[in-house]
Amino acid sequence: MIIQLHKNIQPTDLQIICKTLEENKYSVTTVNTQFENYLVCIGKTDIDIRIIGHLKGVKDIHRVSDNYKLVSSKWKTENTKINLGDSVIIGDGEPAMMAGPCSIESEEQVSKIVAHLLKNNIKIMRGGVYKPRSSPYAFRGMGIEGLKMMYAQCKQHKIKIITEVMQASQINDMMEYVDIFQVGARNSQNYNLLDALGEIDKPIMIKRGISGTIEELLNSAEYIFSKGNEKLLLCERGIRTFETMYRNTFDINAIQILKDKSHLPVIADPSHGIGIREYVPKLALASLMAGADGVIYEVHEKPEEALSDGQQTLNFIESERLIEKIQLLKAIL
Ligand code: PEP
Ligand code: MN
Repeated sequence: MIIQLHKNIQPTDLQIICKTLEENKYSVTTVNTQFENYLVCIGKTDIDIRIIGHLKGVKDIHRVSDNYKLVSSKWKTENTKINLGDSVIIGDGEPAMMAGPCSIESEEQVSKIVAHLLKNNIKIMRGGVYKPRSSPYAFRGMGIEGLKMMYAQCKQHKIKIITEVMQASQINDMMEYVDIFQVGARNSQNYNLLDALGEIDKPIMIKRGISGTIEELLNSAEYIFSKGNEKLLLCERGIRTFETMYRNTFDINAIQILKDKSHLPVIADPSHGIGIREYVPKLALASLMAGADGVIYEVHEKPEEALSDGQQTLNFIESERLIEKIQLLKAIL
């Protein structure tokens, strides 16, 4: 059960609400986000919610049977929109496109990609500076200096930045240069990181874990929301299955289920989803047809020379063709 409280609730009214919940044996978590104040109540399901609904200070009350609560569409029926400023809004019906290299590599690389994004009216650039790599000997990213360099170029053109944060101690230093923090698949259930991201006022895109279920992804988002940050996006990026013909099994089903179960925007990552360049554009289109609010994909001037994930990265021509097709798709959507 979720209780939304009035912002200016009197302490005595809150006490009465809490006492009533206690009498009914609920365990209560107080959640104050950048937008609302909530009480998340776990306990019996057969209560007549009018007992609490009529109390002073209660704005609204909802029964939520899912084990994730605040991210559930059972209480919030309108879709969440994420406003990044400069008219860049995710979840408003227009497919949100995020593109860029797997890793930020050099100033020259970034300026070429920025030019490509501008040419194709892509408003959000991706690019990792802290890279979770399966091998410790692989390129691990340029770190904060790479992010500052990326920011300097993006800022001039009002391009927004999404980049991965790997640990809580990086958040403060990155904060100024980031529009969306990405939680990578490997950190999807790093609850200390999720807690820390719940305490900041910045959008977070959380990826599904490598072997993560849909419910686990929703619960990871719930961690961040319950610590106070409602600005969340979910990302389907493929999961590990028994199949070996491609890098991951891109779960298009998940896009529809997530859209149904949650009010949060859903972003598809077909690059990591299949891991093979030539198939990425069709999966990007399929994701939008399945209801995704946006697509994040990897692009590089010379994918064959990329320092990471070149095999799944589009070149500029392939990326441009994809954007053209998405324009056509918009009419159908
Ligand atoms: C990435 O976006 O480059 C990345 C490392 O993704 P994932 O966490 O999905 O593997
Ligand atoms: Mn990558």
